[in-house]
Amino acid sequence: MKKRILLLFMLIPMFINAHGLRPLVWVLDAGHGGKDMGCEGIKSQEKDINLEITKEVVKLLKKNKPGIRLILTREKDEFLSLEERCNIANQANADLFVSIHVNYAIGKPLLKGTETYYSSLQGMTDAVLLSAHTKNADKSELLAWLMQKSYNDAGRETSRGVKPERLYVLTHTMMPAVLTEVGFMSNLEEEVYMNTKKGRREIAQCIYNALIAYYTTTQAKTHKKTLKNLRNTNGTYSGIKTEKPKVDPEVIEEPQEEKKQEVIPAPVEPTPTPEQPVTEEQKTPDMAEQTPPSEPQSPEKEEKEITVEEQAPSPSLPVFSIQLFATSKELKATDAQLQGLGPVTYVKADNMFKCLYGGTTDYQQAKKTLTEVREKFPDAFIVAYLGDKNITTAEALEMQR
Ligand SMILES: [Zn+2]
Repeated sequence: MKKRILLLFMLIPMFINAHGLRPLVWVLDAGHGGKDMGCEGIKSQEKDINLEITKEVVKLLKKNKPGIRLILTREKDEFLSLEERCNIANQANADLFVSIHVNYAIGKPLLKGTETYYSSLQGMTDAVLLSAHTKNADKSELLAWLMQKSYNDAGRETSRGVKPERLYVLTHTMMPAVLTEVGFMSNLEEEVYMNTKKGRREIAQCIYNALIAYYTTTQAKTHKKTLKNLRNTNGTYSGIKTEKPKVDPEVIEEPQEEKKQEVIPAPVEPTPTPEQPVTEEQKTPDMAEQTPPSEPQSPEKEEKEITVEEQAPSPSLPVFSIQLFATSKELKATDAQLQGLGPVTYVKADNMFKCLYGGTTDYQQAKKTLTEVREKFPDAFIVAYLGDKNITTAEALEMQR
C-alpha cells in the first residue's frame, strides 16, 4: 500500500505537467557575456548593463509573481553561444523568452531610444521552427508592442518601434520570444542613464510592466484583441508618431539620395566563434535594424530618424571602426567576400561603399579588433568618425584628449 501511495504521489506532478498545469516558465536572457562584451560605450560594456537590468527584472518578478519559474541564461559574467541560450529555453520547455540588449549606432551619436524585435517568419525553412513560430507569432508580437508601450508610458519618448527580425535567439527558440534594446550605448546621454542604478531600475520596471501586461492578457486569452488594438494605435509605439512633427529646413532640403546613404547603425560585436556558424539569421540583435540592401527604407523610418536627431543633444564623440574593404555595392550578410565576418555596415564615399566592421570609442579596443580582423582581411585598417563625418584617427585621438 505504502508503495502504491508513493507511486501515485510520483505520478501526480507528471500528470499536471502533461496537462499544462505546471507553473509558467519564463527565460530571461542577458545578452552577451564573458569574452563577448557586446557593444562598448565610453565607460561601460553592454554585457554588464544587460545583466544588471536582467537581475532587476528578476527581483521584481520574484517579489510580485512568485508563481512564475524564472530561468536566467546567465547569472554572471560568462560566455554563452546563441545556440546555448536557445537550448536552455527549449529544453526547459519555457513559455516565454526575453532577451535584453543595448543598441549601438556607428557614426550616429545622437540616435537614441528603445526598440523591440520579434521573430520574422520570412525565409524560415525548418518545418519544426516554422510551425512553432507560426503558432507563437501573435504572442511574440504582442509582447514586443507591450514592451514599447511600457517604455513609452514611462516617459522614454523615443520609441524606435516594434520590428520583425531574423535574429538567432528569436528564430531558434520554440516559444513566444522578443529581444528588447533598452537604449543606445553610442548615445552618451543614454549610456550615462543606463549606468545609473536609477536608470537600470526604471528600465527593468518597464520590462516588468510589459511582462505583467503580457501575463494578464494571455491568461485572460485576450491577446489577439489586445494585439489588434495595439497595432491600431497606428504607430504610437512604433516610433513614428510619438514625437511632434517638426520642420527643419536643412533636413527638408536634403536630397532623397543623401538620406538613403546614411550610415547604417551597427553594433560592436566580437568575431563569431567557430562553434557558431555564421548565418543570415545570426545577425546580432543590435544590428537588427540593418535592412538588407534590396529593401528600400520606408519613408517612416527616415522621418523617424530625423526627428530623433533633432531632439537629441550633441555628445560628439569620435567612434573607431575597422574598414575591411571598399566595394561598388553593398553586399548581403551571407556574401562570401565577408568571410563570415559581421555584422558590417556600409558608408558611401564617392562612388564606392566602405565596408565597416564594429564601432567603439575605445581606440585600444579598435586596435585589438583590427588584429583579429587582419587574419581574414590583411588590408583592413582603422577609420574614425565623428557623427557621420570621416575624420583621421589622429584627430579622433586628439578630441579624446
Ligand atoms: Zn547586444
